[in-house]
Amino acid sequence: MRVILASNNKNKLREMAQILLPFGMEVISQRDAGADFEVEENGTTFRENAEIKAAAVYYKLKMPVIADDSGLVVDALSGAPGVYSHRFAGENASDRDRSLKVLSELINVPKDKRTARFICEICYIDENGEKHFFTGRCEGIIGTEERGENGFGYDPIFCVGDRTLAEMTDDEKNEISHRGNALRLLSKYLKEKEIYADK
Ligand code: IMP
Repeated sequence: MRVILASNNKNKLREMAQILLPFGMEVISQRDAGADFEVEENGTTFRENAEIKAAAVYYKLKMPVIADDSGLVVDALSGAPGVYSHRFAGENASDRDRSLKVLSELINVPKDKRTARFICEICYIDENGEKHFFTGRCEGIIGTEERGENGFGYDPIFCVGDRTLAEMTDDEKNEISHRGNALRLLSKYLKEKEIYADK
C-alpha cells in the first residue's frame, strides 16, 4: 500500500518510511506526490494540526494521506513547548537553538522534576475521506546537555534511561518513539481492516 505523508520534513519522512516498511507500506512525501505547498498549522492541539495538514493534502490529491503532528511536552515548563515545538525559539531558529532554549529554561530544575514526553498524533485519511486518529507517546527526562548525533529536533536532550534519543540507532529510537508507537497503532488498524474486508 502507498500512502502520502502530508509533510515535506525529511526526518519525519525517513522515520515513517523505516517504521512502516515492515508493514508493507510505502511512504511518499506530499511534494513527490504533487502537492507542493506548505500548510499553516494554526490549530491549538496536536490533533487539530495533524487534521489540518492531512485534510489539505487529501483534498488536493484524493488519495490516502497520513499527517504527523508532534512535539515535546515538558512538565516543569507547564507543557511547553508543546504544539509550539517547532516555533519555540522563533521562526528561523535551528534544532540546536530550540534544544538550548529548553536547557536554559530548566537550568535550576533538579533531575526528578525534568520529566517530559514526546507526543505524536497521526491523522490518517482513507480512500473514502474518512479521518482516523492515533496517538503515540514516549516518556523521558530532559538532560543537562546535548548528547549524540543521530535523530533530529530535541533528540539530543531527551533521555530514555541513560541515553538520549540522539545516542540511539534509528531502529532503537523507532522501537520506543512516540512516532513509532502511533504508527504501530495505525498499522494494526489497517491490518485488522484488511482482515475484516476479507471475510
Ligand atoms: P511539527 O510536527 O512539524 O509541527 O514539528 C514538531 C517539532 O517537534 C519538530 O520540529 C521537532 O522540533 C519536534 N519533534 C517532533 N518529533 C520529534 C522527534 O522525534 N525528535 C525530536 N524532536 C521532535
